[in-house]
Amino acid sequence: MNSTSTQQFRIVLLGAGHTNAHVIRQWAMGNRIENAELVCVSDSATATYSGMLPAVVAGDVPRAAMEIDLLRLAQRSGCRLIVATPARIDRIERKLIFGDRPSLDYDVLSIGIGSQPSWNDVMVAGHSGLVAIKPMQTFLDRLTSAVEYAAQRNRDMLRVAVIGGGVASVEIACCLSGRFSQRQKGTDQLDFALAQFREMQVRLISATEVGGELVAGTRRRLSKALKQYGIQTIDRQKVTHIEDGRLMFTDRSTSEFDVVIWATGAIASPFLATLGLETDGRGFLLTNADLSSVSDSRIFAVGDSGTIRDTPTPKAGVYAVRQGPILFENLRRFVNEQAPIRYLPQRGFLKLINVGRHTAIGEYRGLSFAGSRVWKLKHRIDTKFIEMYQDYGPAMTDTNASPEPPAPSDASIKCLGCGGKLSSEILRETLRLTNVSRANSDSVVIGLDQPDDAAILRFGDQEVAITTDYFATPFDDPYLFGRIVAIHTLSDLYAMGATPSAALVNMEIPFGHPKGQQRLATELMAGINHELQLASANIVGGHSIEGPRLAAGLTAIGRQSCSATKKGNLRVGDQLVLTKPLGVGLGLAAMMRNELKSVEFSRLKEVMLQNNSIALYLITNFQVQAMTDITGFGLLGHLMEMVSASFVSAELDAEKIPTIEFTQRLNELGIASSLYPANLSAATSFGVDFNEEDWRVATLFDPQTCGGLLLGVPSRKLGSVLDFLKQHGYPEAACLGRVGEPSGNLPAIRVI
Ligand SMILES: Cc1cc2nc3c(=O)[nH]c(=O)nc-3n(C[C@H](O)[C@H](O)[C@H](O)COP(=O)(O)OP(=O)(O)OC[C@H]3O[C@@H](n4cnc5c(N)ncnc54)[C@H](O)[C@@H]3O)c2cc1C
Repeated sequence: MNSTSTQQFRIVLLGAGHTNAHVIRQWAMGNRIENAELVCVSDSATATYSGMLPAVVAGDVPRAAMEIDLLRLAQRSGCRLIVATPARIDRIERKLIFGDRPSLDYDVLSIGIGSQPSWNDVMVAGHSGLVAIKPMQTFLDRLTSAVEYAAQRNRDMLRVAVIGGGVASVEIACCLSGRFSQRQKGTDQLDFALAQFREMQVRLISATEVGGELVAGTRRRLSKALKQYGIQTIDRQKVTHIEDGRLMFTDRSTSEFDVVIWATGAIASPFLATLGLETDGRGFLLTNADLSSVSDSRIFAVGDSGTIRDTPTPKAGVYAVRQGPILFENLRRFVNEQAPIRYLPQRGFLKLINVGRHTAIGEYRGLSFAGSRVWKLKHRIDTKFIEMYQDYGPAMTDTNASPEPPAPSDASIKCLGCGGKLSSEILRETLRLTNVSRANSDSVVIGLDQPDDAAILRFGDQEVAITTDYFATPFDDPYLFGRIVAIHTLSDLYAMGATPSAALVNMEIPFGHPKGQQRLATELMAGINHELQLASANIVGGHSIEGPRLAAGLTAIGRQSCSATKKGNLRVGDQLVLTKPLGVGLGLAAMMRNELKSVEFSRLKEVMLQNNSIALYLITNFQVQAMTDITGFGLLGHLMEMVSASFVSAELDAEKIPTIEFTQRLNELGIASSLYPANLSAATSFGVDFNEEDWRVATLFDPQTCGGLLLGVPSRKLGSVLDFLKQHGYPEAACLGRVGEPSGNLPAIRVI
């Protein structure tokens, strides 16, 4: 993780298909290209291995068996992952341009975005029931939805048409048929959907001869397999129209269906046509034998996306895989200004076709063979391949420092973000020893003698809230980090009821090449600026230094146009409401150990990127008086401050604590933020009564970066505040406790 690099060269991989993934794996194995950072831009956080898809459709292996979690692979490698789709590429400026984030420049680019099924002149009206084989990441979900939709109309017979005459469509038709016969035993959503039908009729429809590229013996075997499943083959029939429930062919005949799986031959993504590079007749990028574009030597086109001008090959994963080592070597040579090597495609390759029921058909050098042993061979080859990419291991901690991925012990992993804070006990003692808490100026309205989310200063009639934050990046994306830094800092102002107006930026940029430092600082600043603009606030100054890591913070000021929503404003009878779920620190800690799945990371990002500007509406519309934002000291740390300052007690309901979905799983893995023990110890010293064994209770000690707001809401307004929050994008907002009379000798906070 934390692969924020300041190297001289930037290699960008667009798409993490079979060839580009090899380069990421080399990085993971410590085979780095000197002076270069590696960035992978992918439209999905998961990559799929197509060779395994038929076995997944057959129900022989789980879906996870064909998936590569790119977040974890990137974390392992020290490669930076950006999940986004570029809108275009500016080849003059050498930049990938995105609609929703700053552009990304490259010194050398490898395009490996695969291909898509061809829709040659087919008119499509109404999409229900139509399931394209790509994007493969979502194929099973879309297939399941289509089957479920069909079941709402008729449960007798499921009519499936598989369109395409290549090996892939035969595999899908056979494997789906095999699965249907086993549907009652399955436990997946697709099995449940299929189980609603009594029968399934599958038709394989192709404009050309099915399996036309195979030798006669293999075709015979394919035809036998199709017949055994009762699959009707209609070849030399071209589909011209698809409407809901109907296919129409060139001869104007029609055929009824419930689900159409579109698995026709590969054509190029339309994106390739926008690049201004020379293409072949089907729109794939034409390359030299070294895999570089014939029009631009800084761009490589690999796998299905490229066609080698002098030695074109069929679009098949085996070629994409073989290109991996050549691409890696040529990227290295490009950076070192050495002559590239040539890729010589193999003449033919072993074809293994999964036809379901643990049987496969093979073809090699004109010979054809079939059986369960062939299936086992295919399964072994596929498993071995995918496992190379599913070996995630520990996260890389510093790409600049060491080529070997270190294997840190859990204890040595210090959390970043707000989990990197000094403990509250050390801080309190420092303030006591230095006696800085007492204000010696009349302008201090709220200072360290009554510590709150921000200080408040008065100048004439105007009160101003001021706050500061600073932390090291937990992410490999400086733009995302910039956004998080700004959201986190501005949250302090919102929690006081202040409107942000300006900020000073402090940043520490890692030692390195000036070009790399420039890129990093620019992306970081763009992220900070994005959030400040959303808040109608300006960057008005700052300070920057070089250092060993990427860290940043803001000092932000805001206008205080209402009385401050202080921690000391809780009243007996108030209900305690939390706006966002807990678990950010746990998520970040898991990410540093490379245990966070990419789907969980998306959720973590979503929670963190929700800013707390809603506070101002809660104050205006519901006159909420007591508020704080949850940060590094965890919910209990902040509640302790509120309870002490307000001279009340509080009771929390463990079952009502809102948590991010992954929290329980990570807790059960024994993961915790490095600040967790200090937060726990602070709560113990305070005398909080709790049961730490409960995983939900454990999240009360979890440090939050960009955490939610904790509010004291008068009982009579509770319903309307919760409704308001839910209607405005806070579905998990919850009332998790209440404020009581001062507790005397009893614990001031109880978690029941
Ligand atoms: C069902 C099926 C089974 C197959 N079985 C075999 C087989 O057994 N053997 C074989 O040799 N071949 C097989 N193939 C063909 C094989 O899948 C392809 O040839 C191979 O996947 C090509 O690899 P690639 O790296 O070019 O692209 P892909 O593996 O398709 O990877 C491209 C990646 O780029 C990403 N991407 C796409 N667009 C963008 C964008 N605009 N920006 C960023 N990222 C993007 C995608 O999400 C994807 O992860 C099969 C195909 C199918 C459909």
